[in-house]
Amino acid sequence: MLTRPREVIRGLVLAAKAVGAREAIVYLKGSFAAPAAALERAVVEVPLHGVSVRIGRGDDSYIAGEETAILEVLEGRRAWPRPKPPFPAAVGFRGRPTLVQNVETLSRVPSAIADPEGFRSTESTLVSLWGHVRQPGVYEVALGTPLRRIVEQGGGASEGVGMIFPAGPSAPPLVSDRLDAPLHPDALREAGSALGTAAVLVVGASVCPLSVGASLAAFFEREACGQCPPCTVGTARLAQALRSIEAGAARPADLDALAETAGFMSVHGYCAHCRTAAAAVPGLLARFRDDVAAHLEARACPRGGAPADPFASDSPERRAIESTIERL
Ligand code: SF4
Repeated sequence: MLTRPREVIRGLVLAAKAVGAREAIVYLKGSFAAPAAALERAVVEVPLHGVSVRIGRGDDSYIAGEETAILEVLEGRRAWPRPKPPFPAAVGFRGRPTLVQNVETLSRVPSAIADPEGFRSTESTLVSLWGHVRQPGVYEVALGTPLRRIVEQGGGASEGVGMIFPAGPSAPPLVSDRLDAPLHPDALREAGSALGTAAVLVVGASVCPLSVGASLAAFFEREACGQCPPCTVGTARLAQALRSIEAGAARPADLDALAETAGFMSVHGYCAHCRTAAAAVPGLLARFRDDVAAHLEARACPRGGAPADPFASDSPERRAIESTIERL
């Protein structure tokens, strides 16, 4: 949005024409003043071919980026996801069929149409690389680039990689022996994670993995909108369980209760938040079984790993990537 705003607006107009929409809105976090200004300028500069384009600003919560929560905010209500079906393609903005698509995808539409073969052969994606790398930031990489190369592009991890979340909080992490996995949706799914929005979090090797699990579970609890009980209660239970495991205060029976809670959550909730939490948190525990067992036995962190809370809203890891974007 900051460096290629005209491509975003061109793609938006092409998408609107393709689905027969007369009105198009770019929806941004409320705090994204600079991208909003860049897009406002692009709206004046790019031919709109009769499509009415405006820039809409929402709130900064995580869940306000969910596709139906966006529609609620644009209609003047709080950012609460809608139950689906109906999906936005059938009943969306003000009850009308609506295409909801992300800005990065729209920005690639003009080049895909201009040169489909060239586009396919050089397909790339934006990666928000953050966490324990020397140079966090936004990188454009070819789809299929091994995770290891992406970490190297970010200057490497000073103390080695302990785990990597290719999709930020929205999928389980991979452990360091999967660093040769390519950044590609199919390959990452096969490896047991996902590409998501490629908000790639790198966690250093000296960090206690269960502190990261507690941070992840707390994130899901904090960001649940409070609308459906399975998610509100379930994310709170997961967060409590992870705090307890991290502190070495849990018992084996608590792991069974956690699995039961996650199983219930995996088929409930108006939006994907509930199901994502139910996959990501147990997924992390499954990858660090030995650490879980050692915490339960020692009743403390046995390897003396430094704790980290990367998913906290004001964590050093998040501040570092946000400051690189502000400098663009
Ligand atoms: S699943 Fe969670 S975040 Fe989604 S609507 Fe229900 S309470 Fe809100």
